[in-house]
Amino acid sequence: MTDLLDLTLSEARDGLRAKDFSAVELTDAYIGAMDRTRSLNAYITETTDKARAMASESDARLAKGDPGALEGIPIGVKDLYCTEGVLTTAASHILDGFKPTYESTVSGKLWSAGGVMLGKMNLDEFAMGSSNTTSFYGPAINPWQEDGNPGKRLVPGGSSGGSAAAVAARSALATVGTDTGGSIRQPAALTGTVGIKPTYGRCSRWGIIAFASSLDQAGPFTRTVRDASIMLGVMAGHDPKDSTSARVEVPNFEAALTGNIRGLRVGVPKEYRIDGMPTEIEGLWMQGIAWMKEAGAEIVEVSLPHTRYALPAYYIVAPAEASSNLARYDGVRYGLRVPGDSLDEMYANTRGEGFGEEVQRRVLIGTYVLSAGYYDAYYLKAQKVRTRIAEDFRKAWDSCDVLLTPATPSAAFGVDERQEDPIQMYLNDVFTVPANLAGIPGISVPAGFDANGLPLGLQILGRAFDEETVLRAADVLERAASFDAAPALRA
Ligand code: GLN
Repeated sequence: MTDLLDLTLSEARDGLRAKDFSAVELTDAYIGAMDRTRSLNAYITETTDKARAMASESDARLAKGDPGALEGIPIGVKDLYCTEGVLTTAASHILDGFKPTYESTVSGKLWSAGGVMLGKMNLDEFAMGSSNTTSFYGPAINPWQEDGNPGKRLVPGGSSGGSAAAVAARSALATVGTDTGGSIRQPAALTGTVGIKPTYGRCSRWGIIAFASSLDQAGPFTRTVRDASIMLGVMAGHDPKDSTSARVEVPNFEAALTGNIRGLRVGVPKEYRIDGMPTEIEGLWMQGIAWMKEAGAEIVEVSLPHTRYALPAYYIVAPAEASSNLARYDGVRYGLRVPGDSLDEMYANTRGEGFGEEVQRRVLIGTYVLSAGYYDAYYLKAQKVRTRIAEDFRKAWDSCDVLLTPATPSAAFGVDERQEDPIQMYLNDVFTVPANLAGIPGISVPAGFDANGLPLGLQILGRAFDEETVLRAADVLERAASFDAAPALRA
């Protein structure tokens, strides 16, 4: 059945409608793939019985000639989305046994469109990380391997590492993740997949376990830009249950892929040229610029002067919001409870045991920067920086329509690397966090390889609510890069 696994989402959609194969056959192929790639630890929970049942309902709708936009498509969901009656962990010990009584808006939209639920994907605990190594359920593994070094286990990136690994390994046709500071684009880049973080407010956050509410956004992982457009079209839209979800029309994103970027102004921000960037990444960036130019785009150099303050500002704002959002895990309402002699001791015992080291670090940083005396020096200052960063982008849009940058400062690294020093880990997000701080859309497209044969991504950023142009440019980039290699550990 490997041929079914090779189909892109759009090909599978068309094949299902043409009755070339059934949704049950396609789902069974993916269930087999999940089995063969279990060593990647991409799934925390497999919902195979549910998947088979949903697939036969899809077949019934296909037979009636009434298919939804994702009818019969096998999809995995980051285990940060609440799924009704299905274990939802945020990859944290503290949510042991938590089965939500409701479905997140975005995952609900997938199922309403006919999507088939394969399971819940591994992630960094509470989506805090860039390597999927902080998961209580163990690391997810990248299906790519360094040339000639099959013994070295690599990270798929994070925090949506399982979502990325599964799409790369062909154990899900598409997945959904969340991106607070890069958690879709960075793992997409490290696994040779396409990942888009839409504009803040484009997708509802309702029912997604909150990390940093002013930064979190839902988005898809797919093998192609076309597939990302199809997924996003289903996921997006105003939701009265999320006051930050925007009242804007959802365009036909797939129709935006015209293949034509003649006259499009592509900005190249000079501040993204950072010291110590591997030469392959610099080279790929130059190659990307050349591809866009050949396709008829106009290349303009732009300046985003506050870029270097983005990472420090992010690592104040995100933990501040996280410390507040995570206050609800107290041993009373959800999951784990570790008893103590008093109520306070029970809180402390539960949170001390239930949260991992990285989550505790974030809660400590967050409460510190929000405490009286430090609030002005850190939190308020970071908010001011955030405003400046958003202004940088707004000014850039006077001279360009999209920006082209590298997606990450390096390719995938070993599961044991960069673990000692949190700052080293935080540096992975240097190219992705500005878009979250500014709320603008960004996509990572697989575009080349590093010296060890590992995938690298290029990022396209665009104006708020202009995903159509971002996707159109990404589609042209994808065609030029014609990245069609597959990882060693694929199903
Ligand atoms: N790596 C970043 C962090 O740890 C981003 C995480 C995310 O986008 N969820 O905060």
